[in-house]
Amino acid sequence: MCRTALLLSLVLCSSFAAGQRLYLNNGVDTIEPGVKAAIHFLQTYLDAFDTTSNPNYSNYWPEEDCKNLKHPDPIVFAIAGDYPTYRMGSTRTVLYVKPDTNYIQIKTLFAWTDTQNTVSVLAMTNHYIKADNHAQLKFISPLKVIGGQWQTQTVRNVTYTYPSKHVFNKSKADSLVLSIEKLEREWDLKPISIHYYFADTKDEIQKLRGFDYSLDMGNRDKPSGISDDQDNVVFCSGLDENYFHEVVHIYLNHLYPKSPLREGLAIFYGGSMGHNLQWHTQRLSAYLQAHTEINLDSLDKKNYFIYVDNYTNPAGTIRGLICALVYKKSGIEGLKRMMTYTTLEEIFNKEFGLKRGQWDKFLRDATTSY
Ligand SMILES: [Zn+2]
Repeated sequence: MCRTALLLSLVLCSSFAAGQRLYLNNGVDTIEPGVKAAIHFLQTYLDAFDTTSNPNYSNYWPEEDCKNLKHPDPIVFAIAGDYPTYRMGSTRTVLYVKPDTNYIQIKTLFAWTDTQNTVSVLAMTNHYIKADNHAQLKFISPLKVIGGQWQTQTVRNVTYTYPSKHVFNKSKADSLVLSIEKLEREWDLKPISIHYYFADTKDEIQKLRGFDYSLDMGNRDKPSGISDDQDNVVFCSGLDENYFHEVVHIYLNHLYPKSPLREGLAIFYGGSMGHNLQWHTQRLSAYLQAHTEINLDSLDKKNYFIYVDNYTNPAGTIRGLICALVYKKSGIEGLKRMMTYTTLEEIFNKEFGLKRGQWDKFLRDATTSY
């Protein structure tokens, strides 16, 4: 998984309030028993996340979805990657309920308020609820409601789903497959079936996942992606059929759960946000030359040097550079060896013979010469 998540987690996770009531906005009509029951169902579901990131989904989602996916709800990890959306924010309000012939649709606002009553919005979500054959209420995935209108195509082990307006580009899909085959050979891995959702923009992807708005939408479009290595699902935008970075996460993340270089390895192979490692390293080098106060001996301190601007992730770039240096020195076997280490201290010591205090100069030199 990727991204803005690290930055977001700083802002978001601190303000969670367990057991918050689901408020109803003025205008929400709950006279119909079906509407009242659907809102209660949603409240019960959201409450389940108060104590766990992994509730019993079979109480809420269709059996088929639960059979195929560990996390059938595409909203849960859509914003922070590894922290549930439903645990963020300090207030939640149902804004809109629309009973239809097929389902009841509920739009909910997740937000924070501060001591001045200023509202900061996290997200506006859509949930689709209907009774199953046993009269039990269940959600319908937005991937079916919205994605049902999209196209699907499979190339080797990758099943693509994309907006109907897009003309499928087989040569881009073939390029991704070539990269995958090389990765499988190098790391001695079998093909993994991947469901790969893509669109031109992140806004389209977030709509597909059930959002009218999330705080990572908007701003200038650039390629972005996120992957779920438990269910082998990729959501990405801006690089069409060939977003290799997220596929690398799916193949390699689970092999090295404790490595601090999982994001670096994905950047080494697949670049980041539409640019390769060299592009990011050159930008990072210029930034470091202008910012002598940055001390890369603190690289492994929590949340140290994780943001420069909207285009380059400095922490990921440095870790990608470390992968590139070890690959140059020892090839794939070196990467495999390094990914078993669980701290940067161990990596610098065993791969480069460096102690803390020597990292900063070493990395600054490496960014200028790469
Ligand atoms: Zn990533």
